[in-house]
Amino acid sequence: MRIDALSIFPEFFEVLDLSLIGKAQRDGLLQINRVQLRDYAFDRHRTVDDTPTGGGAGMVMKPEPWALALEDVLASEGSAARPTLIIPTPSGEVFTQAAAQELAEHQHLVFAPGRFEGIDERVTDWAAERFEVRRLSIGDYVLNGGEVAVVVMVEAITRLIPGVIGNEESLAEESHSDGLLEYPVYTKPAQWRGRSVPEVLLSGDHAKIAAWRQEQQRQRTRQVRPDLWDAWLENHSADQ
Ligand code: SAM
Repeated sequence: MRIDALSIFPEFFEVLDLSLIGKAQRDGLLQINRVQLRDYAFDRHRTVDDTPTGGGAGMVMKPEPWALALEDVLASEGSAARPTLIIPTPSGEVFTQAAAQELAEHQHLVFAPGRFEGIDERVTDWAAERFEVRRLSIGDYVLNGGEVAVVVMVEAITRLIPGVIGNEESLAEESHSDGLLEYPVYTKPAQWRGRSVPEVLLSGDHAKIAAWRQEQQRQRTRQVRPDLWDAWLENHSADQ
C-alpha cells in the first residue's frame, strides 16, 4: 500500500516510522510519503490560511496549496489512477474497524488533515472529481489539527494488511472484529499480589475456555457499550 500524508506539520507522521508500521515500511509492505503543504504556497510567508468568508472566528485553509499538492501526488510515479483521499474532520462519518478493514484493501490512500477551522469546502468538491473522497472523524471531540487523526487511522488500517502483524490470528479475536469487545486477558504468574487468574483459564479445557471468553465478551459489551450490544443482538438474532 502507498500512503501520502500532507500537512503543515509533517513531523507528526514520524511516529509511523516506529514499531510494526516502521518495520512494514522497511519490509516493503508499505510506503508512507510525508508532504509539506507549505511547499505549495508561494508568497513570502508561505501562507496556507486566510480569514473565513462571511466572517467568524479563526482562519480557514486556502484551497490552492491543497489543489497543487494533491495534483503533485496524482502526477507522481506509482500513484493510483483514482486514489482514496481521506479528509479527517469532526464533521465526517465515524471511522470504525469496519472502515479500517475496507480501507486496508485500497492500493493508495492520501490524507489531508486540516488545521485552524478546517479546509475550504471547495477542495472536497474539486477532489471528488479526481479521488474517491472520504470525510472521516475519529470520534466526537475536536482536536487542534487532523495529524493525530491521520496517525490513528493509518495505524488501524495498515495493521490489517497481511504481513504487517506477526501473529495474524490475534486480529481475528480483537475488540470490534466480531462486533463485541474483547474478553479480559491474563498472563503469568497465576497468583499476583493476592489476585488469581480465573480458574477456567488454567483448566486446559479449550472448549470451556472458549465458552468463558465468549460469555465475558458478551457481558463486557452489554455493560460498557449497549449500542454495540444492541447491534450485535440484531445481527445474531437468528443464532439465539
Ligand atoms: N471547526 C471545525 C469543526 O468545528 O468541525 C474543527 C476544526 S479542528 C480545530 C482542525 C482540524 O482538526 C480539522 O480540520 C480536522 O482535520 C482535525 N480534527 C479535529 N477533530 C477531529 C476529529 N474528531 N476527527 C478527525 N479530525 C479531526
